[in-house]
Amino acid sequence: MEISKLEKEMENNLSALGNLVFMQHKGEEGLEEEVDRLLRSTGELETEIAEMHEQIVRLNPKPPTCPSCQTQLPYVAKFCYICGAKIINDNPAE
Ligand SMILES: [Zn+2]
Repeated sequence: MEISKLEKEMENNLSALGNLVFMQHKGEEGLEEEVDRLLRSTGELETEIAEMHEQIVRLNPKPPTCPSCQTQLPYVAKFCYICGAKIINDNPAE
C-alpha cells in the first residue's frame, strides 16, 4: 500500500538524517545543505502521510466491528483481538 511505502521512505530519511548529524558531530564539514534537504523532504512526507490517514478515515467513516463479539476494531484489523474472529471487509476500496 502507498502509505507504508511513504512511511518506509520517511524512516530512511530519518536514519539518513541521524547519520548526517552524527558526521557533523564528528567534525565533518559541508553537510548543512544535505541535512536541510532531508529535513524538508521529511516534513513533506509527514504531511503526505497525515493527509493519507485523513483520506482513509474519510473513506471508512465507521471503524469495523467484530461480527462475532461486536468489539470496535482498528481500521487495519484483519482479525478481532478479543475473540479472534476474521473481519470481513465490506469496503471494496482496497
Ligand atoms: Zn470478536
